[in-house]
Amino acid sequence: MKNWLELDYVQTFQSLPSSLFSFVQPQGLSEPKLVVKSDACAKLIGLDPNILSDDTSLKVLSGQSILSNWKPLAMKYTGHQFGYYNPDLGDGRGLLLTQVQHQQTIWDLHLKGAGMTPYSRQGDGRAVLRSSIREFLCSEAMAALGIPSTRALCVIDSSSPVYRETPETGATILRVAKTHIRFGHFEYCSFTGQTDLLKTLCDHVIKHHFPTLLLNTTVNIYRDFFQEVVNRTAQLIAKWQAFGFNHGVMNTDNMSIICDTFDFGPFAFLDDYDPKFICNHSDHQGRYAFNQQPDIANWNLAVLAQALLPLVEKDLLIPVLESYPKLFEQAYYDLLSQKLGLLNQDESAQSIIGHTLEMMKICKLDYTYFFRHLSQIHKDDTKHMLRNLCLDIAAFDKWFNAYESHLSLEGQPLNSEYDHKRVQRMNSVNPKYILRNYLAQEAITAAQQGNYQPVQTLHQVLNKPFDEQMEFDDYAKLPPDWGKTLEISCSS
Ligand code: AMP
Ligand code: MG
Repeated sequence: MKNWLELDYVQTFQSLPSSLFSFVQPQGLSEPKLVVKSDACAKLIGLDPNILSDDTSLKVLSGQSILSNWKPLAMKYTGHQFGYYNPDLGDGRGLLLTQVQHQQTIWDLHLKGAGMTPYSRQGDGRAVLRSSIREFLCSEAMAALGIPSTRALCVIDSSSPVYRETPETGATILRVAKTHIRFGHFEYCSFTGQTDLLKTLCDHVIKHHFPTLLLNTTVNIYRDFFQEVVNRTAQLIAKWQAFGFNHGVMNTDNMSIICDTFDFGPFAFLDDYDPKFICNHSDHQGRYAFNQQPDIANWNLAVLAQALLPLVEKDLLIPVLESYPKLFEQAYYDLLSQKLGLLNQDESAQSIIGHTLEMMKICKLDYTYFFRHLSQIHKDDTKHMLRNLCLDIAAFDKWFNAYESHLSLEGQPLNSEYDHKRVQRMNSVNPKYILRNYLAQEAITAAQQGNYQPVQTLHQVLNKPFDEQMEFDDYAKLPPDWGKTLEISCSS
């Protein structure tokens, strides 16, 4: 475990042409305090997590100073926001401080909330405490669930005022990711006619993030690269849908080229199952509603394909783009089969999955709670407990008979020697603990009053989402009614 001076620093992004970034010094926040840290994230970069509250750490993590061999930069990119191209984007409030190599992997250290950059537009370059805590908790929770995501080393609070709807305090989050290159970087190079730059960027991304493509390329390596991005995006979105995650702002500048979950705004995990759920209250059309995410990812991939046109013929790209719906569907049904404890993935499995989701929608069942308890449905008390939660008992009974028959047909009937194995399988894919909006909100309210313990405890619980952790049972309860209708401010 190393301290800041001992880490192995590299600078690969800076080797790219300078039109992709601007060097910018961070602007420090006052009186920095450590709110929460992730030991698991520190381990990724080889950093000793125990040093995070020391003086040097607080200075570099609040933007007050940098190490002598760091050259912080803001990245330039563009992107489609809510369907419209915006040429003026870039890191408006975050800086790539440096990159660290640890055990053959290179990690970006990106300080979000570090002050103004040439791409800040009307913004102040700052991030507030509540949105920093939300991003920290969610990125680390996603990783624990096995969903590809950017990571977060820690959150720093400060006494510097930041003005949103009301005065708040400025905070930072140290985001850790294998890259911060987004679909929007490719749009910037392509739609501004910089074809050489586009090729250089693609070659850089392939070399660092898709190196196996260099070993066995077919007709066109950029086609193969696009196929890999399509594959990974399909897998990622299938996981979002399976875990009930609504991102909320799937603009192309928030799509990571390596397909991590990226940029956490008004996101939410579903409480009651409502496929049309919209977590982003400024999304009046529901463009980024929960059930729109698979199609929106497809739309975003089409934008990426368009950006790659100077390097790959259209006829080569179209079949790749068209492979997405099937790849998504396969991955999605695979995950849902596992959630239901099914052994086979066939048409009748798809039918029982569809029936289950329809029943959950009619009955307004809590998404995470239902799936977690489903593994115990062979027990009468669990079955009655779930049945009693339903708005439409008849729909539940009809579904239960179909599910029971399906398991029997698969040769693993309920109330048999197969229960034990099925419970184990299902509990390893259906989390007990999820970052519900109301849990995040309670922890944030305490942090805003100077008590960081609830954030730390919530982070600890979400680190082992599939484990029973009986002492934290309260965190796995159904949400209170006020918690289901919380409106999360989109200003961050
Ligand atoms: P987001 O919605 O967080 O993905 O942000 C969209 C764009 O706005 C990005 O280019 C951000 O860097 C920029 N941005 C968001 N908030 C601020 C802020 N407070 N100050 C400057 N730029 C910002
Ligand atoms: Mg963004």
